[in-house]
Amino acid sequence: MKQISDALLATFFPASCQLCGQLVETKASGIVCQKCWNDYLPFQLSKSCQKCGYPFLSLEIGNLPPKDCAYCRNTLFSLARSCGAYEGAMRASVLELKTSPYLSEKLFELIKNTLTQSNILEKVDLIIPIPLHQERLAKRSFNQAELIAEKISDFASIPLDNSSLARIKPTLKHRIGMDKIDRSNSLKGAFQVMRPRLIANQVILLVDDVFTTGSTISAATSELIRAKAKEIRIFTLARIV
Ligand SMILES: [Zn+2]
Ligand SMILES: [Zn+2]
Repeated sequence: MKQISDALLATFFPASCQLCGQLVETKASGIVCQKCWNDYLPFQLSKSCQKCGYPFLSLEIGNLPPKDCAYCRNTLFSLARSCGAYEGAMRASVLELKTSPYLSEKLFELIKNTLTQSNILEKVDLIIPIPLHQERLAKRSFNQAELIAEKISDFASIPLDNSSLARIKPTLKHRIGMDKIDRSNSLKGAFQVMRPRLIANQVILLVDDVFTTGSTISAATSELIRAKAKEIRIFTLARIV
């Protein structure tokens, strides 16, 4: 596995930063240079919704972050966290992860920091990546959400389950102009729990690369709840804010 990832690395390293064009000094930063990473600010727990992690940057010092917010009040998941906004160095790295199955040390460090700063892993029984539909998986050859989920599973010593939840309907590519209702309609019946016995009564961490409108996450969450999962928590690398 090490050999494979080194071979993959050699194809894009040494390289110039995807954002500013300067040389990427170390392969640990992935495809973005250290300076561009320094410009990227992860979400701060003290300024984020306690339930879904949405950043409230204008929150004044001394004020407690809200217990929930307009984005999460009606959701079925109990807790959600993302490393930071889908922009700059993070956006470039997430896009790269869709084509190259390599998670940089920098991304892994951000993931670990985000997970350990909250109690999101506490009592989690299973880690489940948002699955791709077979057709898309065949085209892409790997699922980027699974790549992230695998890393978390290794790091936290919590089992990864990549087969109990399946995407049985190819979802339309999200288009500009599609609103939240269009998105959730296109996701109706998209997910199916294949092995309900393994899901029942479990606390599950559902993992994806980007939290967009939350429609994908909601569809997968409600299917897992329907299969009697005890609690669903969400982790994504990035979130569109
Ligand atoms: Zn740069
Ligand atoms: Zn919230």
